[in-house]
Amino acid sequence: MAEYGTLIDPQRPIPQVITEITGLTEDDLKGAPTEAEVASDIRDFIGLGTPVAHNLAFDMRFLNAMFRRNKLVEVAAVGIDTLAISRSLFPKLCVYPEGGGSHRLSNLMYHFRLEDSYANSHRARDDVMLLVEVFRHLQDYAAGRGKVRYPEAVTHGCPTCGSPMDLTRDGGRNLLICRKQPSCTVELVV
Ligand SMILES: [Zn+2]
Repeated sequence: MAEYGTLIDPQRPIPQVITEITGLTEDDLKGAPTEAEVASDIRDFIGLGTPVAHNLAFDMRFLNAMFRRNKLVEVAAVGIDTLAISRSLFPKLCVYPEGGGSHRLSNLMYHFRLEDSYANSHRARDDVMLLVEVFRHLQDYAAGRGKVRYPEAVTHGCPTCGSPMDLTRDGGRNLLICRKQPSCTVELVV
């Protein structure tokens, strides 16, 4: 598998909030190439390949805006969106303690128990490798090759009202608690 990765000097100050999210400071980007210097390499790397991304349309807007700015051919609007696959396979996926939301990539990381390898990283490369792993797990599950069978409430929500459930750990037990409090709270031991 070929890999391509680069930091890019944005040639403008980095807002504090971006440093907080990414851990990247202006010092980190000193000496990094500019967008104009790498845009054609990135376009060449994608080539005729099929893009795979979590919320594909969002990423493609950024990529294609960069290609347009640099007079390069845009990537066709076809590809594989793991967010859409997740929504269709696990319509009301339960939310894990640090998952952030049903279909967040981080929640799928916990769902497929990939956190030992990928938690606590904000680097794009690790996010990509996590996405590759999540995509493989989604494919296996869709093909019936998944090793784990999940209780309905994990993937399809509260048996009473259909709301996604929160997975909480209580001692050694995993409890699923309906997110719609308090009228139909349901607890399941999984
Ligand atoms: Zn409920």
